[in-house]
Amino acid sequence: MKSIDKVVELSARATRNVFKRNLTRFAVVLLAVLASFVAVPSAALAAPPQHHDQVPGFYRLKVGDLEVTALYDGTAAFDPRWLNGTKAAMDGVAEALQQDPHMLDVADTGFLVNTGKQLILVDAGTGTWWGGGLFGRLAASLRSAGYTPEGINIVLVTHLHSDHVGGLTTQDGTRVFPNADVYLAKAESDFWLSLEIAAKAPKDAQPFFQSAQAIAAPYIKAGKWHTFTGSETIVDGMQLVPLLGHTPGHTGYEFSSKGHRILFWGDTIHAQSVQLQHPEVTVVFDIEQTAAAATRDQLLPQLAHEDVLIAGPHMSFPGVGRLHKEGNGYRWAPVVFTDRWDEK
Ligand SMILES: [Zn+2]
Repeated sequence: MKSIDKVVELSARATRNVFKRNLTRFAVVLLAVLASFVAVPSAALAAPPQHHDQVPGFYRLKVGDLEVTALYDGTAAFDPRWLNGTKAAMDGVAEALQQDPHMLDVADTGFLVNTGKQLILVDAGTGTWWGGGLFGRLAASLRSAGYTPEGINIVLVTHLHSDHVGGLTTQDGTRVFPNADVYLAKAESDFWLSLEIAAKAPKDAQPFFQSAQAIAAPYIKAGKWHTFTGSETIVDGMQLVPLLGHTPGHTGYEFSSKGHRILFWGDTIHAQSVQLQHPEVTVVFDIEQTAAAATRDQLLPQLAHEDVLIAGPHMSFPGVGRLHKEGNGYRWAPVVFTDRWDEK
C-alpha cells in the first residue's frame, strides 16, 4: 500500500509541476501580450502633435437686442517707456515688470455690433500698418464669426491711429470693407489728413499722419468718408461720447438697447495693469496729456457707478467688462465666458 501511495503521490506532484510550468508559461505569454497592448498607446503618447493655433478670434455677447462680437486683431507688448507718470508710479511699473514680464501685454480688438438691421464695426484693427506682423487678424476673425467684410454697412472710428483704422485698407489702397460708410469726428479727420499739420509735426509723429492719409484715401475717393461735429444721429440707439485728450477728435460710441448699455471707449486706457490703478498715468500717444487724464478722471467713476459694459480695444481679449472701484483706482471685471444667450 505504501508503495502505491508513493506512486500516487509522485504522480500528483508531477502533475502539479506540469501545471505549474504551464501556468508560468501562460503567465509569461499573457504578460507579453499585455505589454504589447500597453506599448502601443504609450508609444503614441510619447510624441503627441502640438497644435500651434488658437480658437477663432471672436467672442460674442448680447447687450439687450444687440449682438456684440469682439474681433481679435493681435497682441503685442506695450513699451513701458510709452508711459508718463510720477517717479513713484513708474518705479512701481518697473518693479512689477520684474515680477511679471507680461503685465504690459496689450491686445488690439475691433467690435462688431449687429443691430438686427445693420452691421456696424467699431474700429478695424491694425491690418498691416503697424506691428511687424503681430496684428491684422480682424478680417479673419470676422469671417470666423460668420460675417464678411463685404457685409459691413458702417464703420465707426474712435480715432485715426493706425492700430484702429489700419484694417480698413490694404497696403495697395484697396478698401477692405467696400460697402461700408466710415464715420469719425471732423476734428479727427481734419487733423490727421491735413498736409500742413503733417508737415510741421515732429519726425517720429510723421508715420501716424502718413498711414492715416493712405488708409482714408480710398474711402474719401469713393464718397464713403463721413465726419460728424456734434451729437447728430448716425445710428438709432447710439450716442457719440467725446473723449478728449488722446487725439483731437477721439470719440467713444455708446449703444443702448432695452436698458442695457455698452460704451466702446477707444483708447481711454492703453495699459490696464497700470492705468486702472493710476488713471493719472498718460501715454506718449496722448496728444493732450492733461486732457486725457482729465477725461479718465471724469469717465471712470461714472462707469464704475453705473452698470455700463465697456468695450476697450486694448483691454485683454475679448476686451469687454465692467469697472469697479478699488482703493484709489479701479478693478477690471471681464465678462465671464458663456454660450448662453438668455438674459438674467
Ligand atoms: Zn490704440
